Amino acid sequence: MGTLFSIKLYTSSAARAESAFRKAHARIAELDALLSDYRADSELNQLPRQAGRPVKVSPDLYTILATSQRLAEETDGAFDITLGPAIRLWREARRDHRLPDPAALREAASHIGYRKLHLDAVHGTVTLDDPGMRLDLGAIAKGYAADAALAVLADLGIRRALVAASGDLAFGDPPPGQRGWRIGLDSPAAVLTLAHAAVSTSGDAEQHVEIEGRRYSHIIDPATLMGLTRPITVTVRARRGIDADSLATAVSVLGGERGLALIEGHRGVAARIVTDRAIESAGWR
Ligand code: AMP
Ligand code: MG
Repeated sequence: MGTLFSIKLYTSSAARAESAFRKAHARIAELDALLSDYRADSELNQLPRQAGRPVKVSPDLYTILATSQRLAEETDGAFDITLGPAIRLWREARRDHRLPDPAALREAASHIGYRKLHLDAVHGTVTLDDPGMRLDLGAIAKGYAADAALAVLADLGIRRALVAASGDLAFGDPPPGQRGWRIGLDSPAAVLTLAHAAVSTSGDAEQHVEIEGRRYSHIIDPATLMGLTRPITVTVRARRGIDADSLATAVSVLGGERGLALIEGHRGVAARIVTDRAIESAGWR
């Protein structure tokens, strides 16, 4: 997934902790092998070769695809995991400090669109319309993996734990004697105290490229296939990492006003959206 995961937990002995770390990290590695778009042999990357017919996929991949497609519908395609071909062009653009070639982007566009991806919940299958499609789960897989690692720990009886994958964090019970895990945000500074929750931050601050004096985010607006150029940082708190992660990216694309409306429509979800000003959803405080 192109990032480092770290885990903190409290348990009765170093040996139990050691063994729990190993099992939780093994679960993350298993998900990486299924979901990574960097690995040619991942379950995800095998789908385009089987375009045109239904493919039975693992429950993990199915859950992520189904959540992604629901959010794509709900955001009118602002969140779209079929952006893979454009995301590849933007990765090269970041490396070469040059905007993607417009003709290449047009070609990419012909293989993009969440309506070209079909799910069948009864059979647990996925059908891609076109072998030129590429799926990219960069906006949702880390949150899901954080949830999955916490679940492994809970199965081992370890509930006082947190799993962090750069901007995506998931929390179980608080550390002993505390109300929650304390997480610092900046610009503007704030401290969150969290348990049984997840938090994700998305935006242009961490990954972007500057070309001819303009800053382009690694988050792509599906309407233009261009990296976002207006500054935005979104922090979402939700019960589960899969939701915090995907919603934070979706709100980044939608911007302040529409983003806030999306968040207010989800029970148990809250967000802080920082553009030229900071706005908070009703449940944030
Ligand atoms: P995040 O850091 O969770 O906001 O996810 C950003 C990553 O999601 C990017 O690096 C891309 O891999 C992918 N991505 C970019 N734009 C979109 C989008 N509009 N919808 C879904 N995924 C996207
Ligand atoms: Mg995300």
